[in-house]
Amino acid sequence: MNIRWPVFRLIVCLLLSAFPVLLSANAEMPRNIIFFIGDGMGLSQISAARIINGHLNLDQLPLTGIQTTYSNNELVTDSAAAGTALSTGYKTDNGVIALSPDGRPLKTLFEYAKEKNMSTGLVVTCSVTHATPAVFVAHTDSRKNQLTIARQIAEGDTDVILGGGLGYFLPHSNPNSYRYDELDLISFFNKQELNQKGAGQKKSGQKTTVVFNLQQFNNVGEVKRLVGLFARKHLPKVSQNRQPSLADMTRKALQILSGNPQGFVLMVEGSQIDWGGHQNDQAYMLSELVDFDKAIAVALEFSKTHPDTLILVTADHETGGYAIHNGSIKEQKVTDSAFTTRHHTATMVPVFATGTGSEAFSGIMDNTDIGKTLIEFVNRASAIPEK
Ligand SMILES: [Zn+2]
Repeated sequence: MNIRWPVFRLIVCLLLSAFPVLLSANAEMPRNIIFFIGDGMGLSQISAARIINGHLNLDQLPLTGIQTTYSNNELVTDSAAAGTALSTGYKTDNGVIALSPDGRPLKTLFEYAKEKNMSTGLVVTCSVTHATPAVFVAHTDSRKNQLTIARQIAEGDTDVILGGGLGYFLPHSNPNSYRYDELDLISFFNKQELNQKGAGQKKSGQKTTVVFNLQQFNNVGEVKRLVGLFARKHLPKVSQNRQPSLADMTRKALQILSGNPQGFVLMVEGSQIDWGGHQNDQAYMLSELVDFDKAIAVALEFSKTHPDTLILVTADHETGGYAIHNGSIKEQKVTDSAFTTRHHTATMVPVFATGTGSEAFSGIMDNTDIGKTLIEFVNRASAIPEK
């Protein structure tokens, strides 16, 4: 039994390095950033998943810190405001997608990465228009504006998008559509000149492959850009045989994105850990966390052959006020536990990091520090003009 408990490492980290996040002038810059967000994944959730699973791949990430998650207007954040802090380095109000509280667009990590000719990718188990993925690729005053978010995604330049949400991209006349207009956003992925901001940046001659099911996904060969929308809204639970799996989608994304010598930023979300928490459904929550952890193993494997890669794992907030009261390490079970709420909580959440640049993420941080540091990494990358 591995006894490197996250909580133990956390205490050691707190004792040794309670410094604010600062990047020294000679800090090593990662070429690739793989950013894992376990939605609603607090320390108790990780502890319980580790008990029932015996270990986690997360154990292999040696550097641990913690982050505060409060939003601009609430102590208890939602995923939109927390995600905006992580993707832009700035706090905003709950519900807002990458805009300041007074409505100004906040430039996202993905937008900074594109300026350096890096590739970008999103892999999630919810609709790709949901709050956490949206904060990287869209700007709007409410997370509920999913039709707007879908349009911004389709007009944008993200290289890999894998998850659910097909209904937001289909024209109204399609029976599976959620749209009120006849926009066929799927066709937008290959348009070059849609508006000044989005499609203008699309790389000419790089066709986007769009797939809708596991078979098409498995048949994807050498491509530069890939969109996979595998459900009308969200993907099924992992317990309902979710296909493709989060790990498979992460592997495919890494294959495609690593073709860019300028590097890439990939965000992978364990979207449904949060929903298990909201439903106070421990089995749902922990099975999603263990599944999320399998995607982390894919990234760790990738980093063996790509050592200039930063892997960062954190949550946007904790969900459920979950606590473990009793159980057994030996029998790998949690016998007594409780949720104190069906909503999010304000407790700090852990941050795990490994690889180039990981030293920047120890001690107590604010969620905005994480966004700012990642953006600084990308900004310091030297852009080589593309041929
Ligand atoms: Zn939630």
